[in-house]
Amino acid sequence: MTIEKSSPNSFEQVRAEQLEYNAKRERGYRERALKIYPWICGRCTREFDRKNLSELTVHHVDHNHDNNPNDGSNWELLCIYCHDEEHTKFENLVRYGSTKDTKVKPATHNPFADLKAKMDVKN
Ligand SMILES: [Zn+2]
Ligand SMILES: [Zn+2]
Repeated sequence: MTIEKSSPNSFEQVRAEQLEYNAKRERGYRERALKIYPWICGRCTREFDRKNLSELTVHHVDHNHDNNPNDGSNWELLCIYCHDEEHTKFENLVRYGSTKDTKVKPATHNPFADLKAKMDVKN
């Protein structure tokens, strides 16, 4: 470790490297997932083609983006809307220990209040 770069590892550089790593990692598992699975949302069964493929996202079943087994068992293709909903459910599970709406107490501050209201309208 004697080689010194002209620019030290500043916060910005570390951050940029992290973002690049994330982007590369995402391109990697996304491509693999899109090869294995049909381009259909696993929740609403909306179908995708090359034109709108950017709205089809790769969800990690265990929410660990570093867990990318080759058989695709930790991936689920979801449209951006269903993906959002999936993460809201997970947030509620972490926060309240349940995905059931009845368990959710009225919170003084709820960052998902808007989303919740929209979901209720849909149901
Ligand atoms: Zn969907
Ligand atoms: Zn996800």
